[in-house]
Amino acid sequence: MGEFELIRHYFAAAPCAQGGEGVALGIGDDCALLDVPAGERLAVSTDTLVAGVHFPHVCDPLLLGQRSLAVAASDLAAMGATPIGFTLALTLPEVSAAWLQAYAEGLDRMARHCGLSLIGGDTTRGPLSITMTVFGRVPAGQALLRAGARAGDLLCVGGALGNAAGALPLVLGERQAEAGLSAPLLAHYWSPSPQFALGQALRGKATAALDISDGLLADCGHIAKASGLALEVNLAEVPVSPALEGFLGVEAARHAALTGGDDYVLAFTLPPAQLSSLRASGVPFHVIGRALDGEGVSLRDPQGQDITPQQRGYQHFRETP
Ligand code: ADP
Ligand code: MG
Repeated sequence: MGEFELIRHYFAAAPCAQGGEGVALGIGDDCALLDVPAGERLAVSTDTLVAGVHFPHVCDPLLLGQRSLAVAASDLAAMGATPIGFTLALTLPEVSAAWLQAYAEGLDRMARHCGLSLIGGDTTRGPLSITMTVFGRVPAGQALLRAGARAGDLLCVGGALGNAAGALPLVLGERQAEAGLSAPLLAHYWSPSPQFALGQALRGKATAALDISDGLLADCGHIAKASGLALEVNLAEVPVSPALEGFLGVEAARHAALTGGDDYVLAFTLPPAQLSSLRASGVPFHVIGRALDGEGVSLRDPQGQDITPQQRGYQHFRETP
């Protein structure tokens, strides 16, 4: 099967590649053409996943299809954007019909889940690597930036943390667990659900936001730095799933929730005056701390004691083996 036949069969023919809102021209020409309504801005983000670095060489291609798009789409959710489309640059060591069929199926499921149209890409031969570029739109002035948090804001997250990090030994086949524990953790790793509803509900309310991909404390450090203030996290309020606690035990589950990567859950700062209107929107979230004058990220135990492992912000702690 040649390059063009492959593109047509597995990607151009996929349901998610048949166009959608905001797509004036999809796959097949030199460029796709997108509509961006007056008063809105185009939000763009790229992510690359390399086999053996970001996912195991041997894994289910359907799950990889879901995950590879979800991790990129999460950046759009974190900006408060409405999804439009994405391009797929795929580098393959060989053409395997079974692999491509399953990969395209997983990709299509996640694309339709997110409301993203496949609008183009590139197909090359080489070590397996996947680059996704996602496009969305957001009303001018309402994108959720990392800068903008103010002292007195509440620090919030969009859901339980640490599940994907907890799943890693299961993904790598290093450990096993009963299905009741492993299934929800593996689902979070392979099929994270970008928090579009939350991101859009935060427009005009949150003062700063991002999606947690490198661990709660590390990523809060980005908001603290960009906003020029300090963030305080209350350990007891960090949401941890029952499956993660069951699998790792309470202590290790907390550690995974604070420092584990791959969550793709939103973290944001919210003025207290916006709390009730955000609650009224019906999208779940948890208040886990607050913003205050100063710098860096600190962690507090239930008695209010500072239990931050290092004094100078969190990045140093992350770099400690
Ligand atoms: P060009 O040579 O002009 O860059 P290509 O021959 O690489 O175009 O691709 C032909 C068309 O197929 C383009 O519209 C491109 O966006 C699309 N395409 C290529 N690879 C993929 C892919 N993996 N998934 C979706 N569309 C793709
Ligand atoms: Mg090309």
